[in-house]
Amino acid sequence: MKSYAKLVALAALTSVGAFAQMPLVKEDTTQISEHVWAIMGFPNIAIVVGSRATLVVDTGLGTKNGATAARVAAKLAPNNHTLFLTTTHFHPEHAAGEPGFPSGTLLIRNTRQQEEMQKHGQEMIDMFSNMSPQNKELLAGVVLRAPDVTFPAEASIDLGGVTARLIWFGEAHTKGDELTFVEPDRTLISGDVVQNKTMPMIFGDGGTPSSWLAVVDKVAGLNAAHVLPDHSAPGDGSLVAQEHELISEIRTRALALKRQGVSVDDAGKAVSADLKKLHPDWPNTNAAAFVKSVYAETP
Ligand SMILES: [Zn+2]
Ligand SMILES: [Zn+2]
Repeated sequence: MKSYAKLVALAALTSVGAFAQMPLVKEDTTQISEHVWAIMGFPNIAIVVGSRATLVVDTGLGTKNGATAARVAAKLAPNNHTLFLTTTHFHPEHAAGEPGFPSGTLLIRNTRQQEEMQKHGQEMIDMFSNMSPQNKELLAGVVLRAPDVTFPAEASIDLGGVTARLIWFGEAHTKGDELTFVEPDRTLISGDVVQNKTMPMIFGDGGTPSSWLAVVDKVAGLNAAHVLPDHSAPGDGSLVAQEHELISEIRTRALALKRQGVSVDDAGKAVSADLKKLHPDWPNTNAAAFVKSVYAETP
C-alpha cells in the first residue's frame, strides 16, 4: 500500500517514464573542477580523484551500471588503489549499483540515510523493478550490503591533495540526503538538495519544505564555486541561492492560497502556472507535489 502511494506520487510528477527507462551509465566523463569529474546521466555520477584515493558519489541503477562507474573511476586514476563509494540518498538509481563495485570498495554514508535504506531500500528496489523489464534486469540479484563506515553529521576523506567532506545537514528530498563538498575545489555534489531549473520534490516520508530550506541555508555557508546536481546540469555557486529562491517562492505562494481557502489541487495548478510564466525556459514547472508538501506541513 505504501509503495503504491509512492508510485502515485512519482506518476504525478509525470516523470515515471524517466524512472522506467533510465539510460545506462556512460563511459565518458566531463570535468567539473580540478579534482572532480562527472558521468552525466540519470543520475549524474561524481568521481573525485586524489593522488592516493578516489571517491565515487552515486552508482547508477543496478550491478551493471555500478560496474561501469567503478571502471570509469579506475580509468581516471589507474594508480589509486583505494576506492571510496558514497551515495547522495538511498533511492535505487543512486545506490543500488553498489554490487557492481570491486570488493574492497569502502562504502560510507550518513546514519540517517542508512536507516532509510534499511527501512525502505528493498521496497524501492521492488518498486523500480516493476516499472519496466529493463529495470528488472538491471536490479536482478541486487543485495544491499551494510556500509563499512557510517557517520552522524560529517566525515572528511583525505584522498591525497584533495579532501571530500561528506555532510548531512538535515532532511530535504529524503531524510538522509548527503552533500559532498570537495576542497580546495569548492565543488558541491548536491544530490537532489540543490538542482538546476528543476522542481523540488519531497519523496515519501522525507523532509518538509521548511527543513529543506534550512538545509539550503547551511549549504549557502559552504560558499561553493561549482555545483554538480544529480538530475540536472552543473552550474556555479549561484545555483544554491536559486534553489532557496525557488523553494521560498513556491512556499510563499502556496501558503497564501491555503490561507484563502484554495484547495491543494487548485493551488498546485496555480503555482505551476505562475512558475511557467516566471521560468518559460524550464523543462518542467509542475510544482503540484511540492505544493502538497507545503499544505501538509502547515496547519
Ligand atoms: Zn531520489
Ligand atoms: Zn534520483
